[in-house]
Amino acid sequence: MAIDPVCKMTVDEKAPATTSDYGGVTYYFCAPGCKVAFDENPEAYLSEPKKRSLLSRLNPLRTPRSQD
Ligand SMILES: [Zn+2]
Repeated sequence: MAIDPVCKMTVDEKAPATTSDYGGVTYYFCAPGCKVAFDENPEAYLSEPKKRSLLSRLNPLRTPRSQD
């Protein structure tokens, strides 16, 4: 099963409602509306950058680039 990056539902990659390619990776969606939301702002739904900024906010001392 794949995870719909927008709503975090599981999606059967053999029969997804729709898919989108971004950065060489295929993402699977439970519904066309999720793909539309993803295509408008893919970065917002990809967990890694989000996780990084959340971590640096919670723990600024561990962020090498912190300049405050
Ligand atoms: Zn969805």
